[in-house]
Amino acid sequence: MIGNKQCKDIPGVPVLLFLAALRERNGTWFNLDCDNTVVKAMPPGTPRKLVLSKMNMLLRRGLIDGCTCGCRGDFELTSAGAAHLAQALSGKDGAA
Ligand SMILES: [Zn+2]
Repeated sequence: MIGNKQCKDIPGVPVLLFLAALRERNGTWFNLDCDNTVVKAMPPGTPRKLVLSKMNMLLRRGLIDGCTCGCRGDFELTSAGAAHLAQALSGKDGAA
């Protein structure tokens, strides 16, 4: 059940892919009406708290830039994130 899910249950690669696809734009985390919300890159029904903590995890790993305080977020892929993504897509490291 989704309520018991943890950050590690949410795949990070789709989030990185999503941010990469936004290119010049930043991702937000809260507004489902926006096409650039990272919520869309997570499993359906992921609680907001979990969305934020997942983003925080990616942030701490240096894979994304942005703010997880609960504001708009403005997440973007870092060069380390892009490298991680390329590696994951090449099948060497599927876990993010
Ligand atoms: Zn903030």
